[in-house]
Amino acid sequence: MRKQPQRIAELLESPRTNIPVVTAGWVKTFRNDRFIALNDGSTLENLQLVIDPEKYPEDIRKKITTGAAVYAEGELVPSPGKGQAVEVQVEKLEILGEADAETYPIQPKRHSLEFLREKAHLRGRTTLFGAIMRVRSRLAYAIHTYFQEKGFIYLHTPIITAIDAEGAGQMFQVTTLDLENPPRNEEGKVDYKKDFFGKKANLTVSGQLEAETYAMALGQVYTFGPTFRAENSNTTRHLAEFWMVEPEVAFLDLHGNMDLAEDFVKYIIRDVMKERPKDLEFLEKRLLQEEKNLPQAKRSPMPLREKLQFVLDNRFVRITYTEAIEILRNSKPFKKKKFQYPVEWGLDLQSEHERYLVEKHFKSPVIIYDYPARIKAFYMRLNDDGKTVRAMDVLFPGIGEIIGGSQREERPDVLLKKMEEMGIDPEELWWYVDLRRYGTAYHSGFGLGFERMVQFVTGMGNIRDVIPFPRYPKNAEF
Ligand code: ATP
Ligand code: MN
Repeated sequence: MRKQPQRIAELLESPRTNIPVVTAGWVKTFRNDRFIALNDGSTLENLQLVIDPEKYPEDIRKKITTGAAVYAEGELVPSPGKGQAVEVQVEKLEILGEADAETYPIQPKRHSLEFLREKAHLRGRTTLFGAIMRVRSRLAYAIHTYFQEKGFIYLHTPIITAIDAEGAGQMFQVTTLDLENPPRNEEGKVDYKKDFFGKKANLTVSGQLEAETYAMALGQVYTFGPTFRAENSNTTRHLAEFWMVEPEVAFLDLHGNMDLAEDFVKYIIRDVMKERPKDLEFLEKRLLQEEKNLPQAKRSPMPLREKLQFVLDNRFVRITYTEAIEILRNSKPFKKKKFQYPVEWGLDLQSEHERYLVEKHFKSPVIIYDYPARIKAFYMRLNDDGKTVRAMDVLFPGIGEIIGGSQREERPDVLLKKMEEMGIDPEELWWYVDLRRYGTAYHSGFGLGFERMVQFVTGMGNIRDVIPFPRYPKNAEF
């Protein structure tokens, strides 16, 4: 009869010793025929199990290899060795599942991140991916806590949508039609009336438009769910499937929206620093190690935890798009023609520009607001100048855009004119326009790319390494 194992994180913190304990996990290392370093994923630290080699003959001991699953009962005792406060004197050991040392890919040595991506089903067993996933989980928890404590309502917006007006990128189509032989209408085009939903449908790129409807009923809502973009961008900042956090608030203007965004990201960073200190310490060391051989200019300007603390301690710089353009045009790289893309009022900022502002000029998170209307979405509120909209992007060092948001256009006439200009059929979005007809009010919201936040907190360079199973062009393995 097996007993329910306790979590190693708890055993290591146990205020009492010389008590019977039960543990189970995966072997990290086995040395001197006696010491098993066991990990169960609850913490990055291992629990040392001590076995008596007399009791376990060679043929059993040779099954205790890296990656094997074991179950043990024994006594938790103060450890005489260095490196751990407690250890388990094993009384009963059971090897639940062997891991053939010849083929098991996760050996106790450094593996490249590229190699581990190909072994994504096993990379969670490494100290690094354990730490990343625990940090990710805690951040998700902190996001819910933040909004719930502020009285926001968690809203589940649809994943399948028939809206394609958002323009946030290419969408993935959802269909049950026979692609080899689709039904056709009189004009010879594919007849989506015969498709599952009776119209063309896609995976959502954002829950915002639906969230707005409930913000205009419940006052403060947020969504936190998967979003999909078929953009063919093979970058370290884009996934085809990622998670987005989108609060939407009635009676909130753009400046209130910036306050909310800043308060929110500071809250979740503060929380994860408090709750996952050991994982962050490990991630900080990893980053230092990884950057050791880079030239100074390419290294992170601060150690990981100092960077996080810096974000907490400083007010985010807030500048208008127009001011940003001015700063960029007066900058050294602009004058020396070092920017690849042009800097001109009316053009979108490229990531080289954003990074200059954040990393070189201000050395701080920056919120840029009041963008030209032409480069932003139809639903953003037009300013009195008739040229700019109440948009805001929050830019983070090393990441670039982490949040995009705006005050929404609440005036029906202005909205309809904008839709017409941008070629969006108001009939298609009749319900969205309705919100402006019945009880319209000023309101705002934003979207935080969850994986970009996890990247920032963990210091991981590639977004593919902060989600268990990344989806990107030509990859949907696992
Ligand atoms: P970018 O210009 O970086 O592609 P975007 O302007 O398309 O971003 P929004 O439509 O404003 O982004 O989405 C809100 C947030 O979602 C972004 O600030 C970013 O953090 C995140 N995000 C957008 N696209 C992706 C993606 N493909 N993968 C991961 N996160 C993303
Ligand atoms: Mn994009």
